[in-house]
Amino acid sequence: MSTVGRHEVAFRGVTKRYGERMAVLADVDFSVSKGEFVSVIGPSGCGKSTLLKLVSGLTPPSAGTVAVDGSEPAAARGIVSYIFQDPTLLPWRTVQQNVALGLELEGISRSDREQRVQSMLTLVGLSDVVQAFPRQLSGGMKMRVSIARALVSRPRILLMDEPFAALDEMTRDRLNEELLRLREEGQWTVIFVTHAVTEAVFLSSRILILAPHPGRIAHDIQVDLPYPRNAATRGSAALEERIAAVSKALRGVQSL
Ligand code: ADP
Ligand code: MG
Repeated sequence: MSTVGRHEVAFRGVTKRYGERMAVLADVDFSVSKGEFVSVIGPSGCGKSTLLKLVSGLTPPSAGTVAVDGSEPAAARGIVSYIFQDPTLLPWRTVQQNVALGLELEGISRSDREQRVQSMLTLVGLSDVVQAFPRQLSGGMKMRVSIARALVSRPRILLMDEPFAALDEMTRDRLNEELLRLREEGQWTVIFVTHAVTEAVFLSSRILILAPHPGRIAHDIQVDLPYPRNAATRGSAALEERIAAVSKALRGVQSL
């Protein structure tokens, strides 16, 4: 029996090059099981965003195969949501209309749409600003709209590309905690790209450290801390210990 379908995401011998240039990713092999929260961390330019684009089917591999739920990425688009670093909200639409857009395209009825959008906006703490326009929101609020927009379509797999990089540390910490709280309800599988070791360790069940030139997986680290994790988890000796271990591994690949 094939085991491919048991993985949410599987890379087999994946190489990616853009044009004639040196490979961005070379011979990458890994798989992600349902419910894992995998962070991808590594030096700038080592292929982290490219890895997410391959999962979403936005770009094809040059060699090897990428499977999502046992199929080609393009066939699995309905179960994947992608959160970009820049929230890219439509400025002429209200918060509510931005979040509803995907459901409109899916042809979901107006009453179902309104109910789902409303409950998602309540969940991310934006029920007071449903009629506001993006320009009236702070960076943290825009990011929450973007998260609500991704989650309202009930994805099984969530791809997040440095979603909190532009935010101050306090807002980032709060959104990290909120993200884990939301995930308790949804239990989606997550692949999360970040530069920040503390964030990666706090959120993840597993961390892939990429080495550059060409991008490849240098370390595959399990973060064996129980969920739920919350503000109290921060500052715990167990968390600090794992942050130190991941920082050390990352320094090793940065010097390559
Ligand atoms: P990261 O997200 O880790 O910073 P990226 O995946 O964005 O890295 O990029 C990896 C490398 O691939 C970089 O050298 C980048 O310039 C190059 N690259 C990314 N996208 C393209 C593209 N569409 N065309 C050509 N080169 C690209
Ligand atoms: Mg990137």
